Amino acid sequence: MIEIKSEREIALLREAGRIVALCHAEMKKVVRPGISTWELSKICEKIIRENGATPSFKGYGGFPEAICTSINHVVVHGIPSKKQILKEGDIIAIDIGACYKGYHGDSAWSYAVGKISHADKELMEVTQRALFAGLEAVKDGAYLNDIGSAIETYVKPYHFGIVEDFTGHGVGKELHEDPAIFNFKTSDRGPILKNGMVLAIEPMINSGTKDVRILADRWTTVTKDGSKSAHFEHTIVVRENGYEILTTL
Ligand code: MG
Ligand code: MG
Repeated sequence: MIEIKSEREIALLREAGRIVALCHAEMKKVVRPGISTWELSKICEKIIRENGATPSFKGYGGFPEAICTSINHVVVHGIPSKKQILKEGDIIAIDIGACYKGYHGDSAWSYAVGKISHADKELMEVTQRALFAGLEAVKDGAYLNDIGSAIETYVKPYHFGIVEDFTGHGVGKELHEDPAIFNFKTSDRGPILKNGMVLAIEPMINSGTKDVRILADRWTTVTKDGSKSAHFEHTIVVRENGYEILTTL
């Protein structure tokens, strides 16, 4: 069942989203060659706690850190580490969740570390635009899979791999709620979107094939072919004529 949130709940989700956006604004400034992903996690955790929230991912299913840091061929769920130092030419997807008064915000963004290749830049731009193509399909009365269909249609000409093993999701009192939001067209159009549904839409796109595998740490998910991967995500609320982004300043 997809919950419809009250305006009171949406106000709390908006604050959770704002705190996540504060973290991303800081990440944009500090991501550079030489910084460790552990430092990035500590910076985010400090911002989250200073704003009266808690990091949604820390302890979730046993995840040890505040954020996920997924470098180059890592698709999602990379674990921050003191040993993992960013270097010139890397791309890193940083996924951040904050829980404010019991409500979550969830947003991922991919960043360039110093100067990156033209191909990586294109992968990141296409993935970011795929997120917004998906968002443009959102409004009261649209079908859920209009989102995935729009993402697939946008990505198709680039011949990139759309990851199918992970999906977007509803957000609320739980970090992951119904529905699962596929980033591709399915035969079932799915349920009808309604004003007040809160969704995290998050295409994960590989420069090679869509296939992924999970490493022995049981978290780190990498592309099977070693190709690079990008990830962009916003938490939004469905509105009468479109959507409102919650994970923004
Ligand atoms: Mg996320
Ligand atoms: Mg998410």
